[in-house]
Amino acid sequence: MSLLPVPEAKARLLDRARPIERVETVPLREANGRVLAAPLTALLTQPPFDASAMDGYALRAEDAPNVGAELVVTGTAAAGHPFDGQVSRGQAVRIFTGAPVPAGADTILLQEDAELLSNGRIRTTFDVTGGRHIRPRGQDFVEGETVLPKDVLLDYSRLTVAAAMNHPALDVYRRPRVAILATGDELLPPGRTPAAGQIIASNMTGIAALIEDNGAEVVDLGIVGDSREAIASAVDAARAAKVDVLVTSGGASVGDHDLVQATLKEAGMELDFWRIAMRPGKPLMVGSLGEMQVLGLPGNPVASLVCGLLFLEPLLRKLARLPERKREALALTARDLAANDRRQDYLRATLVTDAEGNVVADAFSKQDSSMMKILAHSDALIIRPPHADALPAGSPCPILLLRP
Ligand code: AMP
Ligand code: MG
Repeated sequence: MSLLPVPEAKARLLDRARPIERVETVPLREANGRVLAAPLTALLTQPPFDASAMDGYALRAEDAPNVGAELVVTGTAAAGHPFDGQVSRGQAVRIFTGAPVPAGADTILLQEDAELLSNGRIRTTFDVTGGRHIRPRGQDFVEGETVLPKDVLLDYSRLTVAAAMNHPALDVYRRPRVAILATGDELLPPGRTPAAGQIIASNMTGIAALIEDNGAEVVDLGIVGDSREAIASAVDAARAAKVDVLVTSGGASVGDHDLVQATLKEAGMELDFWRIAMRPGKPLMVGSLGEMQVLGLPGNPVASLVCGLLFLEPLLRKLARLPERKREALALTARDLAANDRRQDYLRATLVTDAEGNVVADAFSKQDSSMMKILAHSDALIIRPPHADALPAGSPCPILLLRP
């Protein structure tokens, strides 16, 4: 079996993914990060009345044709406390921001442009023009207006307008559900004391974070040893939980202890491919078991996280109807890069901006794919395409941003 190029592997994986159709209604405060499933229409008009935008006096502009006009103040209008009379010739109403403009008035005189006289009168100290400092009714939106289209990602600004449109709850798509399963006899959860030959399971902690960062829910199936029975019962649990995707780690190649692929096939998995021309992360298994997509990540933490970024993230975003996250960018390499072989290489690197404003990527000299520390200290991965020529320092190179 030959090695599948990265773009082809990604296209094949995404090709079978169908965006989730199921819709659920969630309270406004739980809708952050969700995707709107129907166009959202205003249930009322905003502002609901002509409102004062400033503190001052509501009056008729024709009553103050020049600076020095005098008016009688006949009442007060504050936010939530309208003045229910009429502003007639020669009158003004003390008004505060957010109050409805009283009937008859057509402009607001700023309070700093009014001189307070005795016996409830004011004198204008500035020119008055009609319509100033008034927010007209419906200036923001009107009842029945569609303000948000379907499929938008709900965030702080969209939730604010949804609230203002008087929606206490919103129809959103169900989130993708993803089961995660770590396999390996050597693995212990963080916080335990390893015996001889044991290590702490780490990669699924990062994969779970990546899943949640991409609008999906995690169903944690924990750790199982390298046994067909244990793997098979975890796969049953994933199916019973009706997850959209099962992500396994470890045991994905065909060594004596690599039982994931064999066990999943026995359970009925249709294998699409399992070897990719990339480094780190050659053994990435992709298949489907009924409605459930299966992604078998390598156990090696750096390899599993790079595969997670390249394959799991776009898969989840397609299922969740989120736009693809733009991680690709260009940088200048800080050091000479060697010619590459047939596997697409992802080099962990830091990024700095030089004096001319160029983004410069400096690859770590040690790239051992088991070193999680170096990934944690990196800002980007330099992409070295298959059979790329050697690249001298200062040359442009494609990168993948780890924290876009
Ligand atoms: P495997 O893919 O099972 O052959 O594992 C490759 C390497 O990754 C081995 O050194 C494993 O001990 C290690 N490994 C496997 N699973 C995990 C995990 N969940 N967390 C950290 N390291 C792991
Ligand atoms: Mg293993």
